[in-house]
Amino acid sequence: MSDIIQLLPDHVANQIAAGEVVQRPASVVKELLENAIDAGATEIKLLIKDSGKTLVQVIDNGLGMSTTDARLSFERHATSKIKTAEDLFNLTTKGFRGEALASIAAIAHVEVKTKQSDQELGTHIKIEGSTIQNQDVIATPIGTSIAVKNLFFNIPARRNFLKSNAIELRHIKDEFYRVALTHPSIAFDFYSNDNEVLNLNSSNLRQRIVAVFGKKINEKLVPIQEHTDIITIDGFVSKPEFAKKKRGEQFFFVNNRFIKNGYLHHSVINAFDQLLPIGHHPSYFLYLSVPPNTIDINIHPTKTEIKFDNEQALYQILRSTIKHSLGQYNVAPVLDFNRDETLDVPYSFKDKTSVSTPKINVNPSFNPFESDINATSYQRPKSAQWESLYAGTETAVDIQQIEVEAQFVNQELFDISENEVKSKTHQVHKKYILSVIKSGVVYINQNLAHQRILYEELLTKMTVEDTSSQQLLFPLALVFNKEDITFFREIKSDLESVGFQFANIANDTITLDGIPVNVNPNNLQGLFEELFEDIKNEIPNSSFSQLDTIAKSLAKSLAIKNGTRLNSKEQGELLEQLFSCKEPNQSPFGKKTFITLSSEEIQLKFDN
Ligand code: ADP
Ligand code: MG
Repeated sequence: MSDIIQLLPDHVANQIAAGEVVQRPASVVKELLENAIDAGATEIKLLIKDSGKTLVQVIDNGLGMSTTDARLSFERHATSKIKTAEDLFNLTTKGFRGEALASIAAIAHVEVKTKQSDQELGTHIKIEGSTIQNQDVIATPIGTSIAVKNLFFNIPARRNFLKSNAIELRHIKDEFYRVALTHPSIAFDFYSNDNEVLNLNSSNLRQRIVAVFGKKINEKLVPIQEHTDIITIDGFVSKPEFAKKKRGEQFFFVNNRFIKNGYLHHSVINAFDQLLPIGHHPSYFLYLSVPPNTIDINIHPTKTEIKFDNEQALYQILRSTIKHSLGQYNVAPVLDFNRDETLDVPYSFKDKTSVSTPKINVNPSFNPFESDINATSYQRPKSAQWESLYAGTETAVDIQQIEVEAQFVNQELFDISENEVKSKTHQVHKKYILSVIKSGVVYINQNLAHQRILYEELLTKMTVEDTSSQQLLFPLALVFNKEDITFFREIKSDLESVGFQFANIANDTITLDGIPVNVNPNNLQGLFEELFEDIKNEIPNSSFSQLDTIAKSLAKSLAIKNGTRLNSKEQGELLEQLFSCKEPNQSPFGKKTFITLSSEEIQLKFDN
């Protein structure tokens, strides 16, 4: 038999490689942007037409290429970035495989203009399907412009496989964001169909994040910083209360390269622990630097996967760093943002014109090294006006005898008789129920606590098929759009299981003749609108989670709002009901329902 193995012609090999490197226009965007950065550009312009299907062009002010290099750059495995296999272990550039330009040129019409700083004139090359069509000299600025037109012109199957312009644009934006966030000091200008999408000036990291995602994000960022022998961590995570239902802005950069890593992602989520409402995702922008020889990024041609030598250690360091920063942040806002009303200047003080400087009495003979300090020589300022701190607040807190007992056990917290409980609650700011407990005091958030109580009630109702309702005297018609009515039909039986009764469902009207006992008939329209919205956002995939969402949403809508005055009987009931819940500590959305302050903690505050 004769030999049958042949070497593939270069253009075929390039096309095959292109299948790996270039999946869609966004891949071209990524490769060209990275080449510009590797070339040391400080200003980069990205132009696309028809979401990159017609044109992707990147213009940079980097090093440029000599004529020979410009031609060579389209050869497979032609790279200026590594010379030996060892270099692979100490990569500092984005590219290193020398595959991108060759692959792109195999499946598109490419036009390059490039000039180095010491050249008078630049080089102009046109390539179509790996063949050079034209080469001449050209007057062009220092740097490189590469235009990629008609992607997949010679592979119709791939071209047809491209998604809608909206989806391809989404992918391009994602790639662009990743590059722009990795290099805040580089200026970027991004045009789509001649419209400017983003114009980013050279800036620092925080400014760049804000420039890309909008001003609002600034207040949501918690800085993260840590330096150890094996890793340096920099960047930001979002504050827990800004977590989103959509898994949005989550970025890991390792040695200035965007990467995806499920293991490290898990470590971030783990750091947020109990702080996130169920089904919510934090945003993060984390920049990790590790010694280049401790990672392997060569396991996938699109290079977003990465392997770390000491993954487990990195996991722990990342987790505890974020936890620590979140903890610090949690202390700060009490002082900065959640202004305590009791400390506000009382209204009547507003018109006072003369302000007197408080007198400070210093004991000039005080000597800290004197062993026998004469306590009486220090005089307390007379008539400290601490009472004014309480002026104007509606519920002044009774100062009661605080019982100090030894052990604090959560479930036995209220191991006191009902009467005692009632006598020991106070409503503070129409928002918290303050109560003295064995080991100190507890602050209960009335709204969140009531959400928990209602949620568990509703769930029980759904499962034990107790459909008791209050009958409406007159059937009540609510009007919705078609989409909501269709949606409503899907969840109708679930709603019936909590006590809603429907007389009729027409094109755009739902008529109710019965509602659950604890539901106020006055705001049913709003209640349903909120419910539909919540269920749509939750995207339930099982009937259980749908029921659960309904229960959560109703609990949220029906719970006593902050700002509602509760009498002492209601306060006592709320407390009792909360602590007979299965999970009293958390609202249905995972927020804390109460906090405790032990007598020791209180004492410590005095000692400091
Ligand atoms: P890689 O980036 O992996 O080296 P590419 O195929 O992307 O491979 O690029 C091949 C070579 O072309 C690069 O190594 C670089 O020398 C040169 N090159 C590509 N783009 C530019 C650019 N914008 N400016 C200067 N040189 C470039
Ligand atoms: Mg490259």
